[in-house]
Amino acid sequence: MTVEKSKELYERACSVMPGGVNSPVRSGKAVGSIPVFVSSASGAYIWDEDGNRYVDYVCSWGPLILGHAHPAVVSAIKDVAERGTSYGIPTKLEVDMAEQVVKMVPSVEMVRFVNSGTEATMSALRLARAVTGRKKIVKFGGCYHGHSDCLLVSSGSGVVTLGIPGSPGVPEEIVTHTVSLPYNNLSAVEKVFDEMGKEIAAVIVEPVAGNMGVVPPEKGFLEGLRNLCDRWSALLIFDEVITGFRLSPGGAQRYYNVMPDITCLGKIIGGGLPVGAYGGRSEIMREVAPSGKVYQAGTLSGNPLAMAAGLATLKILETPGFYEDLEKKSAYLEKGLREAVSDAGVEMVLQRVGSMGCGFFRSGAVKNFEDAIKSDTNAYALFWRGMLENGIYLAPSQFEAFFVSSAHSYEDLDRTIDAARKVLKNMRGK
Ligand code: PMP
Repeated sequence: MTVEKSKELYERACSVMPGGVNSPVRSGKAVGSIPVFVSSASGAYIWDEDGNRYVDYVCSWGPLILGHAHPAVVSAIKDVAERGTSYGIPTKLEVDMAEQVVKMVPSVEMVRFVNSGTEATMSALRLARAVTGRKKIVKFGGCYHGHSDCLLVSSGSGVVTLGIPGSPGVPEEIVTHTVSLPYNNLSAVEKVFDEMGKEIAAVIVEPVAGNMGVVPPEKGFLEGLRNLCDRWSALLIFDEVITGFRLSPGGAQRYYNVMPDITCLGKIIGGGLPVGAYGGRSEIMREVAPSGKVYQAGTLSGNPLAMAAGLATLKILETPGFYEDLEKKSAYLEKGLREAVSDAGVEMVLQRVGSMGCGFFRSGAVKNFEDAIKSDTNAYALFWRGMLENGIYLAPSQFEAFFVSSAHSYEDLDRTIDAARKVLKNMRGK
């Protein structure tokens, strides 16, 4: 396999973009590789500039639940593009899309579209602080909620992958209002509420953590957060940027049947175009400008191309049996990988919820960030490079998820399992 063209592009990229990329984890640093530069994609596959084909499990970091360039999504985008790409004036598409989201996500009665997950969480916090008149936010170590200042504390994803403790440039005064606690540790949350419950505006949580690898909530964790927020009149924010429309048509809230006050969405909701959204009960959402005083705006928000791609995607997700099929495929992949791991005799813990999963190179279940960072990242790097050589593209970091899409065929899954078997066997004893 040659990656000469990617190498050339990476060199050019490094002199004009920081680290040669527009988002840190793409760089491949954590797995000792240069990034492969993609030239095209279709269904479950991506092709790089050198013409190598890979089965893709990054799926644009989650949005592509239907795989790349799904015909219905492409046609919706084309159709809208021919009539203009942005107006900054309301469209019917935004209304259709908002109605679709409200119909599918149980706790959302009103929604505001933004352009990224970062914007969604940042705006949700502003709203929660305004509604409660309080300042403090509780988050969990290893959860990533985008790169806004007050959420860049004990973050997952690129922050942990690259070993950056928070970020320079974030003033201490801002993060003094953010309390970070261990994921899945309800008594720690209880204790903080006992100490400062009346100052806490909101608890923000990934209902399934997907930015420290994949860590499911333990039984009672989400329910416990709901109860504590109710008891102290704080708001519960589910960051469903990954889990929204991935775990069920109604996201993690429907999957676990725990309802947040505010839901943050992104990724799948844009069908591969840049979108985010936050929504909740009408009485809360009405506080957002212009019906309320909480200011939040966006030149390209509700962009017609993004709305069209998102709407086309969400409509397909309503097809009866969609999530059942995806679960079957994901379970098949998990089972195959488990067997490959056990045959190779390496230490890897597979954790999966629906079509998101990951393999931690360590023994014993991972329940929080402390557990996750005890994984052998060198082993993951070896595994990643081996899988790439065998035509499988995984997230270039131990602390990210793999995503199965409806475009992955059983043949693709078998190829993946075979590749893992081969690579893991080679790794034994290294
Ligand atoms: N929240 C979660 C749970 C995420 O996974 C991400 C991105 N991976 C974000 C927020 C931020 O979204 P974006 O990258 O679109 O700003």
